[in-house]
Parts: sequence; structure tokens; C-alpha cells
Amino acid sequence: CGIVGYIGDHAAAPYVIEGLKTLEYRGYDSAGIAVLGSKGATIVRSVGRIRDLEAKLPKRLTGKVGIGHTRWATHGPATTDNAHPHTSADGRIALVHNGIIDNAATLRTKLMAAGVPFTSDTDTEVVAHLIARSDADTLEGAVLDALAQITGTYALAVTDSGHPDRIVIARNGSPLIIGVGEKETLIASDAAALVRHTTRVVHLDDGELATVTAGGFHTFDREANDTGREPVEIDLAA
Ligand code: GLU
Repeated sequence: CGIVGYIGDHAAAPYVIEGLKTLEYRGYDSAGIAVLGSKGATIVRSVGRIRDLEAKLPKRLTGKVGIGHTRWATHGPATTDNAHPHTSADGRIALVHNGIIDNAATLRTKLMAAGVPFTSDTDTEVVAHLIARSDADTLEGAVLDALAQITGTYALAVTDSGHPDRIVIARNGSPLIIGVGEKETLIASDAAALVRHTTRVVHLDDGELATVTAGGFHTFDREANDTGREPVEIDLAA
């Protein structure tokens, strides 16, 4: 349903929580956040309101990379285990997803036959396992490998605790926006979640991905070709 992400100079959690609150009006049944710190990702998820999620956050959550999600369940009931972010079995990959993976059931059967342990009923979880199992050398390459195997609609935001300097995002049929700030970059499924911090944005196109860092971003397509997008001043009337 809703996606928010932050990478920059400040602790990410307050930005992500605030962004999720601005998306509350869209409706959701559960929510969650992943923050990358020196000891890997901290994942906190909750059924119910964003303030319930906020109440569950550990005191010192200082990591400067974070992704968050409000879920509107399509595959599996509204439970904490089904709330996003979903993770790979080793915990290295965390991701949030809006949309529906059409071939998730087939992929799940294959992955389970290969011994992959599933912890949710969602269509989303297969994507985390596919990324973790790719033998590409980069997170971008691993995300491209995973996307080549899935069909359906998605806005995706992916973190890798082995590459804590970036968030990789992808869009197909579900909106995703990059907001470029001073020494910080935000992502969101809806401009409302980032206009407080910046009005310089890029609306990803379907089939487009981006590497998002504290210093900016780089867009590319599913063949890994540069798409060279530049930020524009947001049109709040649009
Ligand atoms: N299909 C995913 C799920 O059921 C994402 C739903 C959403 O867009 O919030 O978890």
C-alpha cells in the first residue's frame, strides 16, 4: 500500500515513521520498518496503527538507512509475520513491496523444494529469497536477476546489510518517487510522504530501477542501461 525510505546524514527511523503517518489516510492493516545499523538490519513490524509500530521501536535506533511500509493485504491475513519488510533467510536482504507478484505460488513451491524456509504467507517474500540467492556481485544485479523471474505489479525498495550505502528500488505498475535533499535522499510511493523535506523529485517509470544513496541517485532499466533521469521541481497541482 505505502512505501517510505530514507538514506542520509540523520537517523532514518523518525523520517520513515513520519512519512508512514502521512500515508495513513490511504488505509492499511499493518506496518513495519527496517533500519540498517552497524550490526545489520533491525526489523520492527506491527498490526494496527503507525503509533503502535512507533511504540515498539528500540530506544537507540540510530541507523541512517531505513525503509518502511503500510500493508494492505492481498496474499495472507493481516498478521505481524505477514507485515513488511520481508527478509531473506540470512537476514541480509530486507524489502518492502506494493502490488501483487502473479507467479509467487510457483516460485514459492520451487524455493521450498530447494530448502528455503518461508516465514510469511505473502507473495512478497519470494522476492527477498530470489535476491539473496542470486550470484550477481552487486545488489543491483541481484535485484535485476530477481525481477527477471517475477511477473506482476510492484513498487519495491530493497536494502542489503552487506551494502549499507544504498537502497535499490524498482517500479512496475505501482508508483515510486525519489526525493533529492541536501545530503539525504528519500523515496516514497506518494509525494505527500516527502514534500516536507524536498521538492526535487523523480517519478520512476514502469520498468525503471534506481540506486539511491545519501548523495543522490542513479536510474537504469531492466537491461541495466542508464536511463539518466534528472530531478524536477515537484508539481503539487498535478
Ligand atoms: N501483495 C503484498 C502483500 O499482500 C503487498 C500488499 C500491499 O500493496 O500493501 O503483502
